[in-house]
Amino acid sequence: MQTSLDPTLLHPETLTEVDRILRSCVHCGFCTSGCPTYQLLGDESDSPRGRIYLMKQAFEGDASFDAIAPHLDRCLTCRNCETNCPSGVDYSRLLDITKGLMFEQAKGSLWRRLRYAGVKWLLRQRWLMRIGFGIGRALRSLPGLKNVGWLPFPRSHALSRVAQTDFSDREQSSTHRPISKRTQGKVLLLRGCLQHYATPGTVQALERILKRYGYEATYLDTEACCGALPYHMGDHDTGLRDLSELDRQLKASGQEWVAVLSSASGCAAMLKQMDALLDPLGGTSTRQPPTTAGILDPVTFLAQLPPLPVKSIKVAVHQPCTQSHALKLTGQVAQYLGALGFEITGSNQGEGCCGSAGTYSLLESRLAASLRDQMLGQLERAAPDVIVTANVGCQVHLDAVGKTPVMHWLELLDRQLI
Ligand code: SF4
Ligand code: SF4
Repeated sequence: MQTSLDPTLLHPETLTEVDRILRSCVHCGFCTSGCPTYQLLGDESDSPRGRIYLMKQAFEGDASFDAIAPHLDRCLTCRNCETNCPSGVDYSRLLDITKGLMFEQAKGSLWRRLRYAGVKWLLRQRWLMRIGFGIGRALRSLPGLKNVGWLPFPRSHALSRVAQTDFSDREQSSTHRPISKRTQGKVLLLRGCLQHYATPGTVQALERILKRYGYEATYLDTEACCGALPYHMGDHDTGLRDLSELDRQLKASGQEWVAVLSSASGCAAMLKQMDALLDPLGGTSTRQPPTTAGILDPVTFLAQLPPLPVKSIKVAVHQPCTQSHALKLTGQVAQYLGALGFEITGSNQGEGCCGSAGTYSLLESRLAASLRDQMLGQLERAAPDVIVTANVGCQVHLDAVGKTPVMHWLELLDRQLI
């Protein structure tokens, strides 16, 4: 694709990067068929190819950023298009740069800027999350409110449906039957912000599973946000400030772990980019990576260990976009659970998007609800006992209205261990 970009818009290095990405697109359209918003809306401007063209026009001065903003905002940043692109177009990077410029230069309508600022503020208030999810948990404990869809809090699954398993003794069963008596070392578990308040059971479940293998779970005293939400909304300064703080905390702990695990795939996807984002010139600064262990998705770590015995039930696996397209772990959770003995009734295998997509379900709620209904329809087709996912945002979004309980796959594994 030929380009003629306006040199006044961006720093020269970033402009060169934009130019390279735009030129790598050959306009073939292989990406369009897998794009959830194109499938839903049928508008070329809401497809990856269309959005790339709109961004090109804006960077060349032929379209205003205000005019293209609605099409960019409707993008889920699911990165399905990157996986399907034979030319390796770095679409998400192009979108991040464009949204960063729009944030810095206050592009888009006033209403858009106010909504973005409001949602960003809301999701950064840990005290509000603590109070909000605390109220949510209290309401969910009331008999008539356990599973109603209109309450915007994670449902409280009695889980009696889940293969009539009595989970009352699950903590004992999983901590009292270690398969290794030797201490294997320390593993750092990152709690995440939203996950810490919305679904704290996920990290607790992972801790119990690791204990069976003889690993000791450790935590940071205070854990900074990974910065993914503000960064992908265009506020790069805030996102990188958060990420730098987490980087600093990891180094300041002075510990070396066998592994560092992040059980929210949205956070893990951001942390995978940590070195590239904090050291964009690739090792030319004095910055050292925070941990030689690397930051992993738990499935990568657990799949290397001897299998654990489980009580099998029927499971549909929702694979978050971040786990498929950013972490490149397509199919791994389904494969791992299947190998342990669970009956896998289906999986989206990273195809489509549930509509959660960071702040998408708050900012584009109508589209997000349609995408959720599609995803649940697909996953519930074979009547699984439970749907599992790997990201807190997807879990809360999918669980809000579905008939089938939705939980993190680590919680399911912990609950079904024999
Ligand atoms: S598949 Fe890749 S090269 Fe083809 S139109 Fe889409 S982004 Fe461009
Ligand atoms: S990131 Fe997802 S929603 Fe956005 S253009 Fe690509 S496939 Fe479509």
